[in-house]
Amino acid sequence: MRNFTYSRAGTAGEALHLISTLENARFLGGGTNLVDLMRENIEQPDALVDVTRLPFARITDTTGGGISIGGAVKNTAVANHEMIRRRYPVLAQAILFGASGQIRNMATVGGNLMQRTRCYYFYDDAARCNKRNPGSGCDAIDGFNRIHAILGASEHCIATHPSDMCVALAALDATVRVAGPNGERTIPFDAFHCLPGNTPHLETALRTDELITAVELPPLPFARRSLYRKIRDRASYAFALVSVAAALQIESGTIRNVRLALGGVAPKPWRARQAERVLSGAEPNPETFRRAADAELAGARGYRHNAFKIELARRTIAGVLGELADREREP
Ligand SMILES: Cc1cc2nc3c(=O)[nH]c(=O)nc-3n(C[C@H](O)[C@H](O)[C@H](O)COP(=O)(O)OP(=O)(O)OC[C@H]3O[C@@H](n4cnc5c(N)ncnc54)[C@H](O)[C@@H]3O)c2cc1C
Repeated sequence: MRNFTYSRAGTAGEALHLISTLENARFLGGGTNLVDLMRENIEQPDALVDVTRLPFARITDTTGGGISIGGAVKNTAVANHEMIRRRYPVLAQAILFGASGQIRNMATVGGNLMQRTRCYYFYDDAARCNKRNPGSGCDAIDGFNRIHAILGASEHCIATHPSDMCVALAALDATVRVAGPNGERTIPFDAFHCLPGNTPHLETALRTDELITAVELPPLPFARRSLYRKIRDRASYAFALVSVAAALQIESGTIRNVRLALGGVAPKPWRARQAERVLSGAEPNPETFRRAADAELAGARGYRHNAFKIELARRTIAGVLGELADREREP
């Protein structure tokens, strides 16, 4: 691990000034991902700008009826917050399925959005990886690819995005609020993470001199009955093989509203819009749920070790939608 300087910013202005004036600098949240990557020499910043003490560690109501979650709020605080648990339970559940209590106590919202892939070849500097070393190739494609993507991958990269929290945020139509040298802007969640295409090293729409200040959730009354299911190799401390975040509103025997996103299957949190199209206005029954899953997975591609994810995703989508529909029928 190479030497680096450490600065703690007290305001967003100070953080933005430090990131643009210090050579090869990165923001530091809880450090649960970045410091690991520095220890492995995968990331080698010369300067860290700690943004955990900025005044962005609050969860507040927005004027439009949604919720704003500050970029420096710890993952544990989001999952335990009464407003999140009551109005967006899928988000609290997704966070609690991730990592461990200790890591969630350190990890921040901003850091969770920006965490890097868990692809083995990305972490192994003896392997070829287009994310780590653009143009070098991808050893995952013909290698051991059990945890890799079945949707949205490219011939240059098949790594998945590892976050659970982000799958729920994708389903909830969140917006990312960022500050940069030219002021503030907002990025729709679906546009925040990028697909690899020819440029797998470009992972998000965030510029290197921009800071995540908040994530905003729109009002979504039917999200009060929402669900996150994570399928993984161990019951804790394991990343998703497949996960599903969903919210369903049924009225007069048909699906009035639905939000669906998948994790563990794509290079970004995967909003399942094809499935949503099939579900909207349809009768909520196992056949509809199966058809919706089939529509979403029609473009899926399995590699040597991960083709099982296609059927696993199909069953998990149908299972989660079935459980939500059963709950809707409850008095
Ligand atoms: C053993 C282990 C198991 C895990 N299991 C899971 C799991 O099952 N599910 C899951 O979802 N996650 C899991 N994680 C990942 C964990 O959720 C992330 O490490 C964490 O969310 C990162 O947050 P952080 O604040 O520590 O980020 P950091 O490590 O501090 O930073 C990560 C990146 O975010 C950038 N950054 C931080 N804050 C900002 C900001 N405000 N604006 C712009 N950029 C910023 C940093 O520059 C860096 O590039 C696991 C981690 C470990 C170590």
